Amino acid sequence: LAALSQVLRLERSRRTGIVFPLQKLERYLAPGTDTARFRLFQPGLAALQRAEALFRSDRGHPIDYVSSAVRMDHAPPPALPEVCFIGRSNVGKSSLIRALFSLAPEVEVRVSKTPGHTKKMNFFKVGKFFTLVDMPGYGYRAPQDFVEMVEAYLQERHNLKRTFLLVDGVVGLQKTDNIAVEMLEEFGIPYVMVLTKIDRASRGVLLKNVLEIQEFVKENTQGCFPQLFLVSSVEFSGVHLLRCFVAHVTGNLPAVEAS
Ligand code: GDP
Repeated sequence: LAALSQVLRLERSRRTGIVFPLQKLERYLAPGTDTARFRLFQPGLAALQRAEALFRSDRGHPIDYVSSAVRMDHAPPPALPEVCFIGRSNVGKSSLIRALFSLAPEVEVRVSKTPGHTKKMNFFKVGKFFTLVDMPGYGYRAPQDFVEMVEAYLQERHNLKRTFLLVDGVVGLQKTDNIAVEMLEEFGIPYVMVLTKIDRASRGVLLKNVLEIQEFVKENTQGCFPQLFLVSSVEFSGVHLLRCFVAHVTGNLPAVEAS
């Protein structure tokens, strides 16, 4: 289901679940619940297709891993609009980036998980349209140099359009996730929360986590987009919508028509 053409062949309810997984949950809410935050970004088919074209490589539109950096002066020049992905180790970040780039099979999403190995920022260039950065995963024992690397990046990267903060959809927000939330809030950087591995969560658990995190975002954040993005890299749910949102925030979707 990496391509929309395949998703469109599914029957309607399944299709909605893959393309708009958050919207699919709406029907289980108590009557009268405010659902505005479930459908703030709701592109139509044309916009989804336009975004998919950006994520599909061909000879005239290469999608490449560019370089890795441990320090800001090693980062490629900030020539294009940029998005970055951050999250706890094991949250599903490399799987999600692989799913986003699944229509560009030559892209190699590197993982450096060996303990003791320096974690790096990995830069990917999507044609002449934008760059996507895979930030090192943080964890309970996030070393100081990691925090400094991410902090420097977030503060200095002027072409950064949006940060995607990944949160495990099965376990919800963890204490360590606050490292990132606090950093983003302190620097006043616009970000979005993405709930991962939703195929592993029962509907009840997922709904509970969604409502709790929505409430957290409403009460405790300034810079977080009020709509959560739900994804499964295994089933491709939410991946098409996320591609579309990336295209939108990098200015590559001039007219997102509401459906
Ligand atoms: P990272 O450390 O954040 O890059 O995490 P990975 O992408 O390596 O994923 C960590 C583990 O979660 C791996 O065992 C993946 O197979 C698993 N995983 C990642 N995404 C998903 C998902 O969407 N669904 C399920 N069921 N498992 C996932």
